[in-house]
Amino acid sequence: MTNPIIYMVVPCYNEQEVLPETHNRLRIKYDSLVNAGKISKDSRVVFVNDGSKDATWSLITEYESEGSYFAGINLSRNRGHQNALMAGLYTVMNYADAVISMDADLQDDIDAIDEMVEKFTEGYDVVYGVRSSRDTDTFFKRFTAQTYYKLLAGLGANLVYNHADFRLMSRRAIHGLMEFGEVNLFLRGVVPMVGYPSCEVYYKRGQRFAGESKYPLKKMIALAIDGITSLSIEPIRIITRLGMLVVLVGIVLLIYSLVQWGKGNVVPGWSSLMVSIWFIGGMLLMAIGTVGEYIGKIYMETKQRPRFIVADKIGLPADDTDH
Ligand code: UDP
Ligand code: MG
Repeated sequence: MTNPIIYMVVPCYNEQEVLPETHNRLRIKYDSLVNAGKISKDSRVVFVNDGSKDATWSLITEYESEGSYFAGINLSRNRGHQNALMAGLYTVMNYADAVISMDADLQDDIDAIDEMVEKFTEGYDVVYGVRSSRDTDTFFKRFTAQTYYKLLAGLGANLVYNHADFRLMSRRAIHGLMEFGEVNLFLRGVVPMVGYPSCEVYYKRGQRFAGESKYPLKKMIALAIDGITSLSIEPIRIITRLGMLVVLVGIVLLIYSLVQWGKGNVVPGWSSLMVSIWFIGGMLLMAIGTVGEYIGKIYMETKQRPRFIVADKIGLPADDTDH
């Protein structure tokens, strides 16, 4: 194989503090890879501006105008990390042999790129960047993340453990991903379903280089619920089973009360009644809520809304030169 064309997709949301350093390090990395003959000089680094409110986009245009391999995609508004990532992947996939996705904040180790490219050259279609340890995380994040992986595994979804969105995908793997028509795509859950030969590359996850996390607890919980509901319908089944169990208990209680009634000792049981009303009421609400969560998802999917809208593209090959 001749030197592969490797595109890098980096979603950025209000990243003006880190972008200069990210740009710097990626430039050094790309120069060395191109000089070593490992990647083609037609490779690019594409920053996807996810509707930032700060100077992120003007920084990106500045890097693009330097005339080397930096390019930019500007989304019409903030659509969240997963959508920004997909905007990048789908926009560049026909220019590249493989695309690597990476966070802007340098938590993903840039030096792992070499190994990813090597694995791709060896014939792997998907290379997962897997963090070798979680010591840079807070205890809270580590605990919630691990519980979450276990929960999802228990619900029958297959995630690559300790892998986020630092990965290389070949062009045909991205085309495969595109076949998954759902609008709310939970990337790290769906990529393994695409199939093709895959492998893992280990790296040490660093601290965010500068700025603050763009994933507050609220967004994290939303992503977590999204992950569960898009990968598994087990929660609805659990409700059904629970319902059956409650009916069984009801039958037993019915027999019991009939027997008690026959014996003539019907004592008014206020507390047990109160408890059961609240308990069953709560269970019902939870059940309806869970079912509603899925119906909401179906509703959103049937609308077929676009995942993202690209406002500008700079530094990318013209569309008619697709190869
Ligand atoms: N990001 C994005 N859109 C958003 C939120 C985040 O494109 O609405 C990007 C962000 O710029 C970064 C990546 O997603 O490149 C991961 O975000 P962050 O580092 O804040 O998340 P954390 O590492 O704290 O989970
Ligand atoms: Mg981060």
